[in-house]
Amino acid sequence: MNFSQIPGQKETIARLTRSVKEERVSHAQLFSGPDGCGSLALALAYAQYVSCENRTEMDSCGICKSCVKYEKMIHPDLHFVFPVIKDKKNSEPVSDTYIEQWREFVKRSPYFTINNWLDSIEVGNAQGLIFATEASEIIKKLSLKSFESDFKIMIIWLPEKMHQATANKLLKMIEEPPEKTLFLLVSDEPDKVISTILSRCQLIKIPAFSNKDIRDYLAGRFNTTENKANDIAKVANGNIIRAIELCENEDSTLRNLDRFKTLMRYAWKRDIISIIGWSEEMAATGRENQKNFISFSLRILRENLMLSLDQLKNSLVFLSGEEASFSDNFHPYINQNNIYPLTDEFNLAYSHVEANGNAKIIFLDLALRITRLIR
Ligand SMILES: [Zn+2]
Repeated sequence: MNFSQIPGQKETIARLTRSVKEERVSHAQLFSGPDGCGSLALALAYAQYVSCENRTEMDSCGICKSCVKYEKMIHPDLHFVFPVIKDKKNSEPVSDTYIEQWREFVKRSPYFTINNWLDSIEVGNAQGLIFATEASEIIKKLSLKSFESDFKIMIIWLPEKMHQATANKLLKMIEEPPEKTLFLLVSDEPDKVISTILSRCQLIKIPAFSNKDIRDYLAGRFNTTENKANDIAKVANGNIIRAIELCENEDSTLRNLDRFKTLMRYAWKRDIISIIGWSEEMAATGRENQKNFISFSLRILRENLMLSLDQLKNSLVFLSGEEASFSDNFHPYINQNNIYPLTDEFNLAYSHVEANGNAKIIFLDLALRITRLIR
């Protein structure tokens, strides 16, 4: 991963390259910023830059022996630690148990959430953690001499998910690091990283992406029109993971908007026969789609309340084109009196769907209650 593959973030990149140029590379650094700011991508590009045999002022060369191995994420001096899961096959899993899947996943796109990662290794309801067994792995890897580069680099993604015992061992390693070792911690929730580790790391604070950077990135990676990329960048509000998700889910967003419109129309008309039909259709879409629809509805309700509160107009509203034109007409129906009961009903439906309740009853119930709340 080169710096040039990352949209924007020029100031952070300049700061990182400068530290290498001035030989002020701190041995423990923590990359962090708002959700979807590209912290892992920056850490990867930085590690590649530090190891590159032919780097320029701005970026790694992309073609030297080190860069080639970095691109494939198989450099022998690059180590990863990340949350994994326990299952029947692996009662004592470590990161390396999943290293093949991890490489493939990160190579596809370095912008993802822990849920995206855990979904890709199919966890069901298991919790992703860095287990106690990881501690001895870390020590083993870092006690080796570096093979090919000046530096051994360990990228620790989500140190906040680390078992206490592992964190204590890591702390020792950071306090008395083996020679030429670089720890790059990439955290979504730095306040949950144990404070003794946190205080020993140099903090690399990353800002959110600009809308323009996200728009350009989407236009390059996806086959979107400029207008669509604009809309999505606006809704994503600096979160590149959300932007990618929106691009990939554009179809499902339109479907959700359609379902939401239909529901509100029937509810307004108190058309019970049609409401029953709508509930049956919803029941047939499956749990994930149902949860998706409810989350979507909650967002639309919130945005429409913002539209209704006149003084906040434009400043806090993140709606894409189709949603915006629907909301132009819809927002007068949402106000401070009905927003709480409405969101309560949607949240209740969400928890019932999660608990595997009868979907036909859940959505019929939801729709009938909305008929009372929307007028
Ligand atoms: Zn290179």
